[in-house]
Amino acid sequence: MDTNILVADALRVHPPAISFFRSLEAGEEASWNALVAELKGRSLSQDKDKVTWRLTASQKFSVKSLYEKLTEGNELDMARGLWKAGIPLKIKIFMWQMFRNRLPTSDNVAKRHRPANGTCAICGLGEDANHVFFGCRLARFAWSAVRDTFNQNWNPQTSVDLLNLLSAQRGANARVVWHSVGPMLWSIWTVRFFSNVIFSYRLGRHWGSSVTRDA
Ligand SMILES: [Zn+2]
Repeated sequence: MDTNILVADALRVHPPAISFFRSLEAGEEASWNALVAELKGRSLSQDKDKVTWRLTASQKFSVKSLYEKLTEGNELDMARGLWKAGIPLKIKIFMWQMFRNRLPTSDNVAKRHRPANGTCAICGLGEDANHVFFGCRLARFAWSAVRDTFNQNWNPQTSVDLLNLLSAQRGANARVVWHSVGPMLWSIWTVRFFSNVIFSYRLGRHWGSSVTRDA
């Protein structure tokens, strides 16, 4: 076929006057058909081709527009509050990971076939992020302190509950709540990390059987 053919000329006939050296696989064929369908609705001109970005008025790429597209909806609300909160960046990143269930909790570590049995070192129940931050006795104690401090009956059970709780706060109150809850969750997480090490040591898991033999 003519490799210099214009797209407009190739698409003038149906099916398009384009052939391939080898037959397309199922996925490739679907992509090709989608591309042809996409081009069908376009009016082609003799102007020079150019690349434009649909997410900005100026049609120029910006990281901000891409970020907003990727985080639109609920997550954007969360991101607005989170990134605006006057808490240390490391806690913001930690909370972002928590909301997205990306923290190395025991269940997540076990899923990646790393050394972990999926249970909580403090209470022995299954450990996922909701257990760590809302269900475990350490978390329940911390939340009771938060309830007393704010004189509220907050009792989130999942990170979605927490997201709704935080999103509902407005103005100066939102600032205070983020300031309290963020570092509180961070403390739970770091305390658990050291607990894991200590509990493992006591049980002779962390440094092998010599610990239990000497004990
Ligand atoms: Zn627990």
